[in-house]
Amino acid sequence: MLSVNMVQLAYLLASVLIIFALKGLASPESARRGNLFGMLGMGLAVLVTLQLDSVQNYAWIFAAIAFGGLIGGTVARKIPMTHMPQTVAFMHSLVGLAAVMIAVSAAYDPVAYGIANAAGGLYPASRIELFLGTFIGAITFTASLIAFGKLQGLLSGKPLVFAGQHLLNLILGVVMIAAGIIFCMNGAWMPFLLMLAVALLLGVLLIVPIGGADMPVIVSMLNSYSGWAAAGIGFTLGNNMLIVAGALVGSSGAILSYIMCKAMNRSLLHVLLGGFGGDAPAAGGAAAATDRPYKSGAAEDAAFLLANARSVVIVPGYGLAVARAQHALKEMVDVLTAQGVQVKFAIHPVAGRMPGHMNVLLAEADVPYDIVFEMDEINSEFSDTDVALVIGANDVTNPAAKSDPSSPIYGMPILEVSKAQHVIVIKRSMAVGYAGLDNDLFYMDQTMMLFSDAKKACETIVQALD
Ligand code: NDP
Repeated sequence: MLSVNMVQLAYLLASVLIIFALKGLASPESARRGNLFGMLGMGLAVLVTLQLDSVQNYAWIFAAIAFGGLIGGTVARKIPMTHMPQTVAFMHSLVGLAAVMIAVSAAYDPVAYGIANAAGGLYPASRIELFLGTFIGAITFTASLIAFGKLQGLLSGKPLVFAGQHLLNLILGVVMIAAGIIFCMNGAWMPFLLMLAVALLLGVLLIVPIGGADMPVIVSMLNSYSGWAAAGIGFTLGNNMLIVAGALVGSSGAILSYIMCKAMNRSLLHVLLGGFGGDAPAAGGAAAATDRPYKSGAAEDAAFLLANARSVVIVPGYGLAVARAQHALKEMVDVLTAQGVQVKFAIHPVAGRMPGHMNVLLAEADVPYDIVFEMDEINSEFSDTDVALVIGANDVTNPAAKSDPSSPIYGMPILEVSKAQHVIVIKRSMAVGYAGLDNDLFYMDQTMMLFSDAKKACETIVQALD
C-alpha cells in the first residue's frame, strides 16, 4: 500500500497527464498523443485508487469494470462517427447519474464515507458538497438524456416552448435551492429528496426548448456540467484526483461552450438558462417545402467547372461524414492539384455533428493541414474563388443567417460561399439540413445542384477529370 504522500503525488502526476491530454486534444496533429496522455493519467489514477485502504471489495469492482468495459468497448467499436454527439451526450448522462448515486448513498450512510460527526450525522461542509454534487449531477443526467433523445431522433428535434416556461424554470430553481439550503442546515432526508426531484425535472425543462441548430452548444455545455458534477462528488469522497479532473473537464467544457456560443453568435447566459432558438422549426431530414426553380447538373458538368477553375474552396458538412466520402474527396483534391488547380478547405465551427468533426474526417484522409482553413481565416477569400464546392453541407452555408431576421439561425456566422463565381452543391435531394430550414443558396444563379451521394459524386468526378 502506498503512503498518503505517495498517493497524492501519484494523483498530481495523473492530473498533469490529463492537462497534457487536454492540450494535445486542441489540435488534430497532436490529438492522438493527447489521447495517450489521457489514458495514462486515468490508468494511473485508477490503479492508485484501487490500492487505497478504503477499497475493499475487489470482486464487485472488477466485475463492474469488466461489465462496463465490455459495453463501452463494444459501443465504441460499433458506433459510426456520425453518431458521436448522441454517444457523448449519453456518456455525460452516466457521469451525472454516477454523481447522483454516490451523493444519495453518502447522504444515506455518511459513516461509511467518513463524513459523519460523532452523532452519525453529516458534517455541515459535507452537506454543502452533497447539495452541489447532487443538483448538478441530476440536471446533467436528465438534460443529457433529453439531448441524447433529440440527437438520436428518438424525440422530436422541435423546440418545445410554452407560455410561462421561464417563470416555471425560475420557480423550480428557487424551490431546488431552498430545499438544498434546508438540507445544508439540518441534514434531513426530505429536503434532500425534494431538491433531487426538482433538479431532475429542471434538467428536462432546460433542454426541451432548445432547437436543432443550437444543439452543439448544448452538448459542450453538458460536457462542462458533467465535469462540475464529478468535481462536487470528489469533495464528498475526499478524492483530490476527482476534484482536479472534474474541474478540468468542467472548465474546458465551459471554455468550449463559450467558443461555440461566439461561433454561433449566441449568448452564453441563454444557454445556461435553457431556451434560446425558441422558434426553430423541426430538425432536418424533410424535403424543403418549395417549388422555387433551381439548376442541377451531372458529375461531368461539375468536373468541367472544377478542371477549368484556378481556385476551388471545398466546404465539407455532415453529409460528407454520412457518405464516408473523405478518401474519395482527397483523391479528387489530388487530381485537381496535379492539374494546377489551387484547392483549399473551409471549415465552419459547427459543421457536422460535433466540434472538430470535419477536421477529424479530413485528417483521417491525410488532407494536409496547411490547406484546411477555419471560417474566419477563409471567409474573405470566397469573392476571389472560382468554384465553391459544397459537399454534404447545408445550414453552415445558409444566407438566411445573414439576411433574414425572422430565421431561427439569424446571427449565426456562415461560410459565405455565395460570393464565389460558381457554386456546386453535392447532396442527394433538396432536403433541409439539421436546423430544418430551406437554403436560398440552392436557388441562386451561380449555383448548380449535383444530386448524388457524396462519395459516388467524388468518384465520378475523379473519373471525369482523369
Ligand atoms: P446539415 O445537417 O445542415 O446538412 C447536411 C446535408 O448533408 C443535408 O442537407 C443532406 O441533404 C446532406 N447529406 C446527407 N447525407 C448525404 C450523403 N450521403 N451524401 C451527400 N449529402 C448528404 O449539415 P452542416 O454540416 O451544414 O451543418 C451542421 C448542422 O448540425 C448545424 O445546424 C449545426 O448546428 C448542427 N449540429 C452541429 C453539431 C456540432 O457540434 N458540429 C452538433 C449537433 C448539431 P440530403 O439529405 O439532400 O442529401
